[in-house]
Amino acid sequence: MVDTAELPYLRRCVELAAEALEVGDEPFGSVLVGADGTVLAEDRNRVAGGDSTQHPEFALARWSASHLTPQERAAATVYTSGEHCPMCAAAHGWVGLGRIVYVASSEQLVGWLEELGVPAAPVSALPINAVAPHVTVEGPVPELTDEVRALHRRLHSAP
Ligand SMILES: [Zn+2]
Repeated sequence: MVDTAELPYLRRCVELAAEALEVGDEPFGSVLVGADGTVLAEDRNRVAGGDSTQHPEFALARWSASHLTPQERAAATVYTSGEHCPMCAAAHGWVGLGRIVYVASSEQLVGWLEELGVPAAPVSALPINAVAPHVTVEGPVPELTDEVRALHRRLHSAP
């Protein structure tokens, strides 16, 4: 279960996603939190420049590999506005990060994008545990799901 004490981290993910949208990127944001509750790193999507691998979850996995010990990584939690894609789930698994909490699932996102008529992504929307089976994963978080949905609607709705 997601503790209400964790909601501020998830709200920050939604803020970062909104920030990405504001600057013309896709609305995704993620926060890496240490075992003691300290925010260690955060990032947002940066694919607008043309590199579609610049996802925040991937960036945090790489950051953790160069800044944290294996023990610190295993004890850390990644909060994120949307469930990791297979690339990011793989990176998370390879560097040995701990728990993941996401606001919206990939299944939800795919459904929303279909409703909006957005062409299917080039990568399958697998659940995180289909890629990284030993990671503890929690979500969706209904308290914030509508906010994330609204950001994706803003990105894809015609002005
Ligand atoms: Zn990703």
